[in-house]
Amino acid sequence: MNEKIIDGKKVSLESKELLKKKVAKLKEKLKLVVVSVGDNPASKVYVKQKEKMALEVGYDFWNLHFDTITNKELVKEIEKLNQDTKVTGIIVQLPLPDNLDKNLILNTVSPLKDVDGLTNINLLKLVKNEDSLLPCTPHGVMKLLEYYKVDLIGKRIVIVGRSELVGLSLFHLLLHKNATVTLCHSKTKDLKSYTSEADILIVAVGKKDLITKDMVKKDSIIIDVGINRVDGKLYGDVASDAIESASLMTPVPGGVGPMTVISLMENVYKAWELQNDQKD
Ligand code: NAP
Repeated sequence: MNEKIIDGKKVSLESKELLKKKVAKLKEKLKLVVVSVGDNPASKVYVKQKEKMALEVGYDFWNLHFDTITNKELVKEIEKLNQDTKVTGIIVQLPLPDNLDKNLILNTVSPLKDVDGLTNINLLKLVKNEDSLLPCTPHGVMKLLEYYKVDLIGKRIVIVGRSELVGLSLFHLLLHKNATVTLCHSKTKDLKSYTSEADILIVAVGKKDLITKDMVKKDSIIIDVGINRVDGKLYGDVASDAIESASLMTPVPGGVGPMTVISLMENVYKAWELQNDQKD
């Protein structure tokens, strides 16, 4: 393995083994429920992946699926899951069909069961640096940086992409670690002038080869969150030869992706802890 590669697969496997041990010690069985609507083929694959990992870790798993449903009916279904003491974590599989109000549906999930970390309450807690269920991909990126002992204090970090799911949440998490963070997006002028100054560059856009070798600083650390499927093969947002300039870089696949799934499983355990803290 190239010593410059940040091996997300290895880190996620180690995290999984640790989590399995913790879960095996519990007296009760934790349960993850994925709520899905419609027939999006990619969603079906993602739900299966979550099921496989949940069962491996030792959780119960249930895919509550609806071919079609109204906002009102779905809100009721999620409220039932919120009340069900046997349900530890709830995910609403995205994207939802157009007839459904994503914001309303996501925010119906109890913040204590919101293992995707996407409710407004959990996002606000993240901004305020309060203990909460974090969105899985940003959490996974933070774990990778920690595992590789990347010093963040005072570092110049550039994030490309500002979605709540990834870039915006990472912006706050890294700021809390005392990095100096710049958030770039589709309207940023002269992207290269930012990326080429970054000690740590994080890219979460969804455009193959958006970042080329000449756009990165020598000896920088590159975290490529992007996933682009071209002719059945997966690519990130950063051209693969950028690793020649970097000191460390995540591959795609095998970098951030595996960390996202394990972070979700860790969130189920954390949700259980938070729910128990509330009972005290
Ligand atoms: P998203 O919601 O579509 O956001 C994309 C962001 O990229 C937006 O902020 C957009 O700017 C910005 N952008 C678009 N074109 C740009 C350009 N030419 N230059 C600079 N910024 C540009 O996507 P997302 O959900 O954050 O996901 C981003 C990528 O990460 C996707 O490839 C997705 O598949 C991948 N992803 C991977 C994982 C994983 O586990 N590895 C998890 C989640 C997502 P505006 O805000 O101005 O439109």
